[in-house]
Amino acid sequence: MTAPILPGAEIGVLGGGQLGRMFTFAAARLGYRVAVLAPDDDTPAGQVSCREIRAPYEDLETVGRFARSVSVITFEFENVPEATTDAAAQYCPVRPAGSVLATTQDRIQEKAALRRLGIPLPKYAVIERDTDVAAAAVTFPGKSVLKTARWGYDGKGQRTVASGAGIAAAWKTLNSARAVVEEYVPFRGEISVVGVRGVDGAIALYEPVANRHANHILDVSIYPAPVSTSTRNAAHEIARAVLEGLQVIGVLCVEMFELQDGSLVVNEIAPRPHNSGHLTIDAHVCSQFEQQVRAVCGLPLGSTAAHARAAAMANLLGDVWSKGEPDWSAALATPGLQLHLYGKEGPQIGRKMGHMTVPGADSATAERVVLASREALASHGSPA
Ligand code: AMP
Repeated sequence: MTAPILPGAEIGVLGGGQLGRMFTFAAARLGYRVAVLAPDDDTPAGQVSCREIRAPYEDLETVGRFARSVSVITFEFENVPEATTDAAAQYCPVRPAGSVLATTQDRIQEKAALRRLGIPLPKYAVIERDTDVAAAAVTFPGKSVLKTARWGYDGKGQRTVASGAGIAAAWKTLNSARAVVEEYVPFRGEISVVGVRGVDGAIALYEPVANRHANHILDVSIYPAPVSTSTRNAAHEIARAVLEGLQVIGVLCVEMFELQDGSLVVNEIAPRPHNSGHLTIDAHVCSQFEQQVRAVCGLPLGSTAAHARAAAMANLLGDVWSKGEPDWSAALATPGLQLHLYGKEGPQIGRKMGHMTVPGADSATAERVVLASREALASHGSPA
């Protein structure tokens, strides 16, 4: 059994976004120092860390030096190249392993890995060349979704196609030869399970959260998800199988579609804390970020119990700034509301700038309050 990395040590994070920022807060509370390596400076994570190193992920010499200077490395950016995690792994543990990251960076590899583990997936086909497109048009005569194999997130690299005849044209607009076509899933709802696996193989799972997307970007997450006990148990079984199957050390999120009969298929997985788990910061005993700290440092995992009966989280995209600076006072006056801003300049449409969480006695009330608070932000904005 490897010795735990104890408070006082320095943890390296590859990536400088908001996930790294919230990870850093959790690590700092436990007495760790955090160093960030990212291609930009003044990043959301770098702003709150002890050290921020600006370097491209491809600068393997700097990555090696970085790895020598910390006790363990984790990542918050999903597209860190495998060569980078390999270079780092020569000098310190990288958790989760770079191979997990490499699998989830590529939808074709991810689906193949999940299929090998027996995880239920939507019907899909791989497209790598022109002849695959023609075959897919026959396999998917109805509505389908075309997704690039790599660099697809928040709806980027994705096209919904009305019928098989439209697949070829949609594929051309993707500018990526490697893609997958999936059946369009007429889901009843979307849920996710955030789970964590420790160095010793222990697993802790949060209760499923219900997610609603707008323009393919997560908009609202609601805890607890309104699912039956059997669906909840099936969701947990899936998350456990993925964490174990991929030998993840750290947090992983499984996003699933709930079908009309309550059964589940997996849409995608992310081997890191996830937007749908942000409400664990305010509504749960131990947040997903603290779990990541504990897991990568080899400490016992924390409780996944909630201290709120229900909670709702709403994302704040750059759109909220469209009428000028949001009226923060209006939101902060809401009892129980917790505001999280990521320190980003430039509130572009669709860019994740922050989120708000409201705990509540029931999920419908929490959702109503968080949505009304977000409305209040935008409608009272003073002109920019
Ligand atoms: P993704 O980038 O794969 O997470 O997709 C973003 C969102 O697009 C999902 O959360 C769904 O709301 C929607 N979506 C993706 N794939 C499908 C599908 N096969 N059927 C129906 N909706 C989908």
